Amino acid sequence: MLKDNLHKVQTQIAEALARRTEIKLTGDGATLVAVTKNHPVDVVLEALELGIANIGENRVQEAKEKRAVVPDRGSWHLIGHLQTNKAKQAVALFDLIESADSEHLLAALDKAAAQQGKVQDVLLQINIAREQQKTGFLPEDYTAILPLLDTYQNLRVRGLMVIAPLCENIEDTRPVFKEGYRCFCQLQAQRPGIELLSMGMTHDFTVAVEEGANIVRVGTALFGKRDYTKK
Ligand SMILES: *Cc1c(COP(=O)(O)O)cnc(C)c1O
Repeated sequence: MLKDNLHKVQTQIAEALARRTEIKLTGDGATLVAVTKNHPVDVVLEALELGIANIGENRVQEAKEKRAVVPDRGSWHLIGHLQTNKAKQAVALFDLIESADSEHLLAALDKAAAQQGKVQDVLLQINIAREQQKTGFLPEDYTAILPLLDTYQNLRVRGLMVIAPLCENIEDTRPVFKEGYRCFCQLQAQRPGIELLSMGMTHDFTVAVEEGANIVRVGTALFGKRDYTKK
């Protein structure tokens, strides 16, 4: 079943790439991150077997339990809000922290990376739609952090992450993704090493890819609905 779902998602990504009306600075491909949060580790193993290389988790503890079973396979992405007191664990666990969302957190991640002798790849998460219930840099805070990025010597900022509001009509997400792409282009013109733009989840990844995403984070379309009643 996962195999069929994967085929469907990959086809939709390819079709969305083909619909792009202009050449994008994010390249002509899009990487699939399989979001396995709230699913058992078997699901991670199944995904890896099918050749999915990137695994997305939103909680440190859950990722830690899964990585204990699958220590050296896959590239692990943190996609959920991280408390600064878990920065150390996150640096130890994740290949890419997509949800760097405050100056405070960047400082904590930088310090943890220094202690662990690691250069930590991060994305800056921007709250473009200013949703109160979501984290991420507000646009003005994002603009303010840019001149400070070089002070984090143990972090490598690789790009941006955007979550669009949940819209009944997915066309309504398009302006948010367009703005995400605009921010990406601006940042890329300013800094070396900016190449990743993570936008789009199950309900809106096709629009995100059309607008320039080169990472999509998909859970439900691959694995079905999450059961939040089980732990
Ligand atoms: C849960 C989650 C996803 C995946 O959501 P689906 O709708 O199941 O595809 C993607 N991105 C983030 C930040 C998430 O928290």
